[in-house]
Amino acid sequence: MSKPVFSFEFFPPQTSEGVERLAATRKQLALLKPAFFSVTFGAGGSTRERTLETVQQIKAEGYTAAPHLSCIGSTRENVRAILETYRNLGINRIVALRGDLPSGMATTGAFQYANELVSFIRAQTGDHFHIEVASYPEIHPQAKSAGSDLVNFKRKVDAGANSAITQYFYNADSYFRFVDECHKQGVTVPIVPGIMPIVKFTQLARFSDACGAEIPRWMRKTMEGFGDDNDAIQSFGLDVVTRLCERLLSGGAPGLHFYTLNHAAPSVAIWKRLGLST
Ligand SMILES: Cc1cc2nc3c(=O)[nH]c(=O)nc-3n(C[C@H](O)[C@H](O)[C@H](O)COP(=O)(O)OP(=O)(O)OC[C@H]3O[C@@H](n4cnc5c(N)ncnc54)[C@H](O)[C@@H]3O)c2cc1C
Repeated sequence: MSKPVFSFEFFPPQTSEGVERLAATRKQLALLKPAFFSVTFGAGGSTRERTLETVQQIKAEGYTAAPHLSCIGSTRENVRAILETYRNLGINRIVALRGDLPSGMATTGAFQYANELVSFIRAQTGDHFHIEVASYPEIHPQAKSAGSDLVNFKRKVDAGANSAITQYFYNADSYFRFVDECHKQGVTVPIVPGIMPIVKFTQLARFSDACGAEIPRWMRKTMEGFGDDNDAIQSFGLDVVTRLCERLLSGGAPGLHFYTLNHAAPSVAIWKRLGLST
């Protein structure tokens, strides 16, 4: 089996303090020698410049950067220009997404679904980019059914995606079942689990409600029982997420992608517990 691929995701900071904090976070996480750092792209292109700046900073520090690019609400010219900029910067990994239409934005633009973006990237830039796409072991919230979501995931791979990163989840079985279903459909690209460390229960519950990632009832009830005791929540979260990662890696997951929310400590704590090398 090939070596697991580890990566960390950031969002582009809005303030100069945020930029400094993220640089410090990167410094700590770089010690773990990840394959790449990815940088999100705000809905409707709202972070276009800041995503680019963050990517440039990562590149200047000598690390591999993988910008996210969401297509909803964009024109072809816009996306072409962004791809050109990244290509000229020597970026060769990209996370291609549909994104969600920001409230108030009426038009979907030139692309309706991520598979169209993947096809466009391949048509414009050939094999230059390693293209990652999103996948949903617990099913995308807008999908009509698990089956149609799988068909739509396959469309992205058939359009030229090289690998996938999943939405986060806390039930390892949902991941293994999803991977099995993909294999049955002939989809064999690496599907890297997205890992969300647990830091604050209320924030996690809000994210999970929005993106359709399930917090199992027993976890929700346990964390609710801790009330405002954040130390207890974090210690519980560290146990649960470490066990999840152990199961995923021992069950053959090709790596782990950490949603860091721009903090190093929660990912580093899991990393140490897992006994991964630096
Ligand atoms: C790893 C990861 C990173 C992310 N990064 C960002 C980010 O940086 N910025 C951001 O705004 N959002 C990001 N998101 C969130 C993502 O944009 C949302 O989940 C969005 O709702 C779906 O994006 P997608 O690329 O999965 O869409 P798609 O693959 O297009 O799927 C969206 C929905 O449409 C259905 N569908 C897909 N193709 C078709 C088709 N051809 N015909 C009919 N139905 C179809 C699918 O079943 C699904 O329900 C990320 C998500 C993940 C998992």
